[in-house]
Amino acid sequence: MDLAAIINKQWIYTARPTAEVTANNYQLVTAPLTKQELAPGELLVQAHYISVDPYMRIQQAAQDSWEAPHPLGAVQGAGVVAKVLAVKGDTGEIAVGDFVNCYTGWQMYAICAASAVRKLDPTLPLSTALGVLGMPGRTAYFGLHTVGRPQVGETVLVSGAAGAVGSIVAQLAKLQGCRVVGIVGSAAKQQLLQEEFNLDATINYKDHPTLAAMTLALKTACPQGIDVYFDNVGGPITDAAMTWLNLRARVIICGQISQYNGGLDNPELGPRFLHHILYKRALIQGILARDFADRMPEMLAALAPLVRSGQLRYPETIITGFENLPATLNALFYGNNTGKMIVKVSP
Ligand code: NAP
Repeated sequence: MDLAAIINKQWIYTARPTAEVTANNYQLVTAPLTKQELAPGELLVQAHYISVDPYMRIQQAAQDSWEAPHPLGAVQGAGVVAKVLAVKGDTGEIAVGDFVNCYTGWQMYAICAASAVRKLDPTLPLSTALGVLGMPGRTAYFGLHTVGRPQVGETVLVSGAAGAVGSIVAQLAKLQGCRVVGIVGSAAKQQLLQEEFNLDATINYKDHPTLAAMTLALKTACPQGIDVYFDNVGGPITDAAMTWLNLRARVIICGQISQYNGGLDNPELGPRFLHHILYKRALIQGILARDFADRMPEMLAALAPLVRSGQLRYPETIITGFENLPATLNALFYGNNTGKMIVKVSP
């Protein structure tokens, strides 16, 4: 294959946002592939589905998170489902025509090492590799089971409950025999949680805009208190949840999306709630998907059968068009997605 004939499209991250991320924080570059030849063990891949995830906005802040900020002048990093167009030398089980999950970012074509990709099972929908059977699924599964450790009959509260991670957590907790309460930002999402996921109660946080109102809503929805709180959003919702924890509750800090558009560099001061952790001898722990990367087979063995049998639903919001990547990333902050937000870039 003549690599020089391939015209690539890339979104280059060029400017740190102070609030929302837009296309102005990127430059769209169309140019031939820079590398002319594959090295042994390398693949040429074409993106089909590209991920947008809230963590991208964390990495755009000026300060360190679990790692240094995303470098300027580089292709926006992202998980991708791609088709293998060419291989060279020993690429193990990866052959031309396979679909793989790779971390090649917001670009149409990429050259990567075969050792850095995961071959996908063609009998499962390809897009699931970015959602329920990918990083978000891993986060949900290990966050809930290693830190939350829900027991039958316990009350599990999930914020961001109709999103990529939250929708899986909520369903897994139901399968575990828990009483599950989901917090979301619209009546349509409440309906999904009740009718599709069979949750026991739901709260639309936009109906309860003050700490007092949210606390009351939580007490109504969780009359027995909260045993496990899986937090995807932070902010006032979490402030309220902290007041209603049960003895030895477990709080999983998975994400704080309500704080990402500005609050990471200039944090707002919230109510002090650590005394509730003291009184309830509660455990609060952050979790990170990458810490469980080597346990991917374990997660897939647990969740893939549930996906196949229909016991685990995986809503997806799929936007078409490479040019829509920055706007689709920002749409996560408006709750425009139900389940995993994905951009489809190839037919
Ligand atoms: P997602 O939930 O699919 O999408 C984001 C959702 O957040 C939106 O749909 C919106 O839903 C909600 N949201 C946006 N702004 C909000 C606000 N101000 N207050 C309350 N809710 C708001 O995204 P995801 O990929 O599953 O990620 C969910 C959270 O988990 C994020 O905080 C993310 O950073 C985190 N995460 C962490 C890890 C890890 O390794 N720790 C891995 C993956 C994700 P509504 O319509 O309900 O508002």
